Amino acid sequence: MLLVCLLGGVHMVAATKKPSLSPIEAIVRPVDLAQHEFEVELHLPAEATAKPGALALPAWTPGSYLVRDYARFIDRVRSVHGGEETPLTSKLDKQRWPLAASKSGQVVRYRLYGNELTVRTNHVDGTHAQIIPAATFMVPEGQKDRPWRIRFEGFPKGWKVATGLEESEGGYAAPDFDTLIDSPFEVGTFRSHTFEEEGARFEVACTGDHNGDEKRMVEGCQRIVAEVGKLFGGFPFKRYVFLITFSPKGGGGLEHLNSTSLLSDPFRFEKAEGYYGLFELMAHEFFHVWNVKHMHDPVLGPFDYSGENYSRLLWFHEGFTSYMEHGLVLKAGVVPWAQIAKELGNQWTQQIQRPGRSEQSLEESSFDAWIRQYKPHEFTVNSTVGYYDKGEMVGWLMDAAIRAGSKGEKGLPDLFAALWKRHDGGITDAKVRKAFEELSGAAAAPFWDAYITGREELDASLIEKAFGLKMDLRAPWELLPPDELRDADAVARAKAWTGLTFGAPSPAGDPAAVLNVQPGSPAFKAGISYGHEIVAVEGWRTMTGTDVKKRLADVPVGKSAEITYVDRGRVQVVKVKVEASPLRILRILPNALANATQKAAFTAWTGQPYPALPLPPKAEKDK
Ligand SMILES: [Zn+2]
Repeated sequence: MLLVCLLGGVHMVAATKKPSLSPIEAIVRPVDLAQHEFEVELHLPAEATAKPGALALPAWTPGSYLVRDYARFIDRVRSVHGGEETPLTSKLDKQRWPLAASKSGQVVRYRLYGNELTVRTNHVDGTHAQIIPAATFMVPEGQKDRPWRIRFEGFPKGWKVATGLEESEGGYAAPDFDTLIDSPFEVGTFRSHTFEEEGARFEVACTGDHNGDEKRMVEGCQRIVAEVGKLFGGFPFKRYVFLITFSPKGGGGLEHLNSTSLLSDPFRFEKAEGYYGLFELMAHEFFHVWNVKHMHDPVLGPFDYSGENYSRLLWFHEGFTSYMEHGLVLKAGVVPWAQIAKELGNQWTQQIQRPGRSEQSLEESSFDAWIRQYKPHEFTVNSTVGYYDKGEMVGWLMDAAIRAGSKGEKGLPDLFAALWKRHDGGITDAKVRKAFEELSGAAAAPFWDAYITGREELDASLIEKAFGLKMDLRAPWELLPPDELRDADAVARAKAWTGLTFGAPSPAGDPAAVLNVQPGSPAFKAGISYGHEIVAVEGWRTMTGTDVKKRLADVPVGKSAEITYVDRGRVQVVKVKVEASPLRILRILPNALANATQKAAFTAWTGQPYPALPLPPKAEKDK
């Protein structure tokens, strides 16, 4: 029932909901594009200003759980009446301005500075304007249900607008403030591509030059969209917009109701991995239409934009979306299994090496998103897990548990499809547990106790059992190339470990500063800590982290090395024991012993045949 209703169109539903309220009109104008300045003029109808109140700006934008205090980018807030401008001074708090009562409505104008190109901040310059509504539009308190009309004036000739909102009377209409906040705008000279899928219209708006094949990007996008549509039996919208901006070092995406903002480095397409990364990002954000936008923890909408909204389910909303993106791009045939096997192997390796993996549960990591996810510090890896990264691996384990429990009949995609079918307004931990139990035939508590509320080590045997894959864990030296593996000296060097981690070399040529020290490691016991500069090993000057590692590898395992470091200007010398590395690296390989059920489960997950076994080494030919 609900599905049918949603297919009728989000905007139509909302538009018929509140027919009687006069809209707030907003005009967005450039002030000085080269200087990243623009302004907003709000026309508040009389009903919205009948009583004294306040104008409030959001502190954060949904999907990115950090208070960003967007009000710091706003100034010159004034009310405009008959050509007279009156500054609105005496702010009520960091993001609220007083609004006097007026029987005839009010006009309020303010300037914004937008010079940060991320998917959650405004960016305006001579080439385009990316307008993030949460950072841009103030709303009268208590007036969130009122419709909006947005117009763009004074931008350079030829600039167009891409947004998920519908066009209306020379502008764009939002049925309420929540929908406006969920509809970013790209204003500029982007290239438009369109395609249709299952009766829905898709637009891909590409901003900025790049070294890739845009046709390949759009075709891949369509195949991904089709796969997600198949899973959920159609789309809960009539129109969806991918906003892609190419900018050096750009990355990340943000999900919205019927659009998404994606940022990509323009020069990543010289290698196929560049396309793979973009396709996975598309799949991730598009899957969020269901997992987060329509189905979510009740706390994640309607939102309180003034501050933190705490959820314990971000492992499900984000981590599981990160896992699902792999199966979707594989099924769409736009990323090969070898790439996904590499990515999953790397992620698993990172999780089993993370020093803080037993310090925090996924549920706790979700709850703490607001203070930790976007505010990491040097000790973060020692005290936390990430709801994205560990959540992705636990999504894989849950998929495996469902497939093993259902003899390959069902998997995690079925859990999402089941939740969507019975979707009744909110996702709770209890509903996810129930769906898991129905599909896997197993009790949920042991899985949750281990991986969601608990902090147990990831169990590779679950993956092996479900998909027949070999989870091949190796010590670093076991992965040396064959000739080095036969070289005792090379093996001894690869074993050397003290627990020190270094960042990228300093461009200024500063000595190697320690990035992290593994708790309990020899370097940790010797008192070396974050930020210490290692200047010599065994009396030899070292400049970079690589230098330090090389000199330490000269020391046989079991012996001690003399390390000279600088701590706040003081030179210190300590002895550090070199040990055999306890770190393990995961490779995901096919297994000759995989049975038909396991192979079928692999194919059900990936849409691909079970991977071929590597050929045995070739015999030397006679000469
Ligand atoms: Zn996400």
